[in-house]
Amino acid sequence: MTLSLYDTLSRAKRPFAPRDPDRVTLYVCGPTVYNYAHIGNFRPVVVFDLLFRLLRDLYGEDAVLYAANVTDVDDKINRKAAEEGVPIATISNRYLDAYNADAAALGALRPTFQPRVTETMDAIVKMIGDLVANNAAYAAEGHVLFDTQAFADYGKLSGRAMDEMIAGARVDVAPYKRHPADFVLWKPSKPGEPEWQSPWGDGRPGWHIECSAMIEQALGLPIDIHGGGIDLVFPHHENELAQGVCAGHGPEYAHVWMHNGFLNMGDEKMSKSLGNVALAHDLRQQYPGEAIRWALLAGHYRQPLEWTGELIEPAKSALDRLYRVLDDSERFLAGVPTSARASGGEHRGAVMAYDAEMAALHDDLNTPLAFAGLFQLADYLRSAAMGKDVAGVERARALLLEAAQLMGFLTSEPQAWFQGGADEGLKARVEALIAERHTARTDKNWPEADRIRAELSALNVEVMDSPTGATWRIKEQA
Ligand code: AMP
Ligand code: ZN
Repeated sequence: MTLSLYDTLSRAKRPFAPRDPDRVTLYVCGPTVYNYAHIGNFRPVVVFDLLFRLLRDLYGEDAVLYAANVTDVDDKINRKAAEEGVPIATISNRYLDAYNADAAALGALRPTFQPRVTETMDAIVKMIGDLVANNAAYAAEGHVLFDTQAFADYGKLSGRAMDEMIAGARVDVAPYKRHPADFVLWKPSKPGEPEWQSPWGDGRPGWHIECSAMIEQALGLPIDIHGGGIDLVFPHHENELAQGVCAGHGPEYAHVWMHNGFLNMGDEKMSKSLGNVALAHDLRQQYPGEAIRWALLAGHYRQPLEWTGELIEPAKSALDRLYRVLDDSERFLAGVPTSARASGGEHRGAVMAYDAEMAALHDDLNTPLAFAGLFQLADYLRSAAMGKDVAGVERARALLLEAAQLMGFLTSEPQAWFQGGADEGLKARVEALIAERHTARTDKNWPEADRIRAELSALNVEVMDSPTGATWRIKEQA
């Protein structure tokens, strides 16, 4: 199946062809680790995790190299370290651990590489040196600046004219700049800030060169796909592209540029500086990670997405519905003798739904349409179980699991999913009542057994008896 991806640079959706199918490279700009990341920061995490999964499916797990960086040199990290009186690494490690735990809870696979700025200084200094040697950068007053006049295509990625970029960059035009749009590659550190050695004086890198050097070090330039939020197109990615080309990495820095739309709260982009944030760290105390992941994929990744209760609650219900069909189908199959488990048959409805889901995903990650395919599969599965079509149930169930798990869903056992909503106290109480009911039934004390069933029902718990014992789940919401 061909994967088509929308490329910000050519402004078109194109069939994706990696330079080398045995070594497919993907890089995504990650967070600055000075605080808990908000749920908007996890939109690119989940979107590009889905892409990573699709690429692994297409080219093989070992063929795809995914680097998602961490910015661990930043004024905000310095400030927080100073406030707490600890080294900067204490701050960045603390919030990197929290970020990785949140990402894992949202079903994101660990990227192949997680490069950090502090571990890339030699590559950064080397790339700046290459730019100076190629007359694309110049040193001035302890700084090194990229010379935007050296790159004729500057502005091509974002589609901006030069005067717009100067205004957009909102730079205080420093006197040592040859051109107002020139940007910093290296600068002196302020007193008390961490600094590193360079041929242009001790100091620290600019933001844009960090990513270019991390890509070069982790994956090698050029790469197949570069991703990030839409806010990064200008100036960050425009500058990365200019640096990469001028440092001698060929005309194509990244073959495809992909950008996710904003996650908004109200009418505005969710952002730490505006303070309108919901933290993934808090949300996952209230909702299963898969429900948050579903909510983040509920809209097409290039469109803005509004974060409200109307996004997360239906996401949870959608997954409840899929898990319930799965649970019922497993219960149905458990009652069928192995000898009756004939496979075969076309099951066209199930196969068509599966194909529709896969086609949607490969069409520039059309997740809303892919979700519709999952529901069609679930409907087929439910009908097959009602019609006692054993082969149909087996086929549809396998396809549903494969299709959903490719997207990072239905990764729990149904029972664990439904009981996950119950707190430990309720779980203990339900288990005790089920044991008492078992005793009552063994003693043929039917009134007592019925009373306990009613008590469980009042706790919103449904008990299902089977030859191997009773299991339970939280009841479906009316
Ligand atoms: P930051 O920590 O702000 O540099 O962001 C880390 C990543 O999250 C970048 O790829 C940003 O583009 C992305 N991002 C930040 N805020 C949002 C948002 N509200 N919606 C979608 N993506 C975002
Ligand atoms: Zn970046």
